[in-house]
Amino acid sequence: MKRDYAVIGLGRFGGSICQELNQEGMQVLAIDKDEDKINEFKNIASHAVMADSTDEATLRELGIKNIDHVIVAIGDNIQASILTTVVLTDLNIKKITVKAQNDYHEKILNRIGAHQVVHPERDMGKRIARNIISNNILDYLELSDDHSIVEVKVGERMRGKTLVDLDIRANYGCNVVAIKQEKDINVSPAADDVLEEGDILIIIGSDKDISRFEKNLV
Ligand code: ATP
Ligand code: ATP
Ligand code: CA
Repeated sequence: MKRDYAVIGLGRFGGSICQELNQEGMQVLAIDKDEDKINEFKNIASHAVMADSTDEATLRELGIKNIDHVIVAIGDNIQASILTTVVLTDLNIKKITVKAQNDYHEKILNRIGAHQVVHPERDMGKRIARNIISNNILDYLELSDDHSIVEVKVGERMRGKTLVDLDIRANYGCNVVAIKQEKDINVSPAADDVLEEGDILIIIGSDKDISRFEKNLV
């Protein structure tokens, strides 16, 4: 099933979404008010159109109502981002994803009916911070304000031990949902599986519990 996308705002964030969607063979309508951006994306997007997205009539003329998913990637101009989102919700677009610049912006976007609000700088910053703290923390996915999934590499403190030895659930309140070993992934780890150095554990839990686990075992 092929879906049509529109990306509004072709900065680094919107631009890379546009590029990736195009590479995956999707139809992308790219919109920016800056002519240079439109020239830059002429050959990347299916259509690249110079337009001010805060103007409802213009968006209608572009046939935005036929598009399944619109991504608003206007960053610095919060007013333009909000106005564009209002216009899109008024037009009953099925799915609207908007990039937020700060927490306040995020709150407003949720209020006015954006279906998904993303905060790439903040989220990437958190991920990288985890990675900086320890080379053995490979990735980090926020599930809610206080729960996450992390990917950690088995190092000295866990190698040669089983999940029973470590008693991760009882000691740290976290669950090991999978163990990756080279190309294999075991999605139902047994209590007596022996961990080897370099294995990757995928762990789910509250941030507090995960943090305790990381301090003691990673
Ligand atoms: P990034 O960090 O992703 O590079 P940014 O957060 O700095 O981007 P901006 O450069 O402020 O974001 O905006 C991204 C793009 O959005 C710009 O190319 C800008 O021309 C475009 N843009 C801003 N306002 C409008 C508007 N009203 N209509 C269409 N495009 C707009
Ligand atoms: P369960 O609670 O799953 O019914 P159990 O407590 O009877 O099992 P085992 O499954 O043998 O006993 O596990 C012993 C201990 O090993 C558990 O109490 C738990 O702390 C730890 N453990 C086992 N599997 C995992 C896992 N996937 N993630 C975290 N800890 C685990
Ligand atoms: Ca920016």
